[in-house]
Amino acid sequence: MEGICRIAIDGPSGAGKSTIAKEVAKRLGIDYIDTGAMYRAIGYKAVKNQVGPEDKEKLENLLNDTDIDFVSGDIILDGDKVNDRIRTPDISKAASVYSALPEVREKLVDIQRSMGSRKSVIMDGRDIGTNVLKDAEYKFFLTASAEERADRRYKELLEKGEDVSREKVLADIKARDHSDSTRTLNPLRKAEDAIEVDTTGMSIDEVIEYVLKEIN
Ligand code: C5P
Repeated sequence: MEGICRIAIDGPSGAGKSTIAKEVAKRLGIDYIDTGAMYRAIGYKAVKNQVGPEDKEKLENLLNDTDIDFVSGDIILDGDKVNDRIRTPDISKAASVYSALPEVREKLVDIQRSMGSRKSVIMDGRDIGTNVLKDAEYKFFLTASAEERADRRYKELLEKGEDVSREKVLADIKARDHSDSTRTLNPLRKAEDAIEVDTTGMSIDEVIEYVLKEIN
């Protein structure tokens, strides 16, 4: 790997994007940018401030008055570390709703492009290879069956002590897949030049090795 290298990782929720991206970033010594966390932060702030998705004026003010950054792997919203608060099932839903709004995408895509403009980064999300970093040196599209993704998410939530059922997690994943891939603006889609990796039945290490082999 020489010079500036931008790596895009897209795919549906629960495909393992962030786990893989975090580890690949560490091994290559480059920054990891979790764009889903940015949409979650906006969803979280909007819900907390009771600004509905249809309330354009309040939403515009909220966006103008919002600062999002990553510091040593933590997501910082207006100066506060919000890592855990944005990972609840309710905020997953809110992120999906607010991420479909043009004003939200415009603001976050601008920030993401500037984060990826001067240095090597690995960025994960839904529209990185097709929109945010169209000219990324490497693009991957991670998938896995809805059942396997639901199992992974279910285990994660159980470990965190959340009271959920597997059926509910699977239904939520399917609903999010649907809204993320059918929305008008930058829907979830594999870029033509992305390498598709179906991670069903693969271990995390196997996926990491596969990705690193493609890059080196
Ligand atoms: O990846 P994660 O599940 O944290 O993303 C939360 C939500 O943010 C997704 O369901 C999707 O609606 C939205 N998102 C997006 N574009 C991205 C990343 C995430 O619309 N690049």
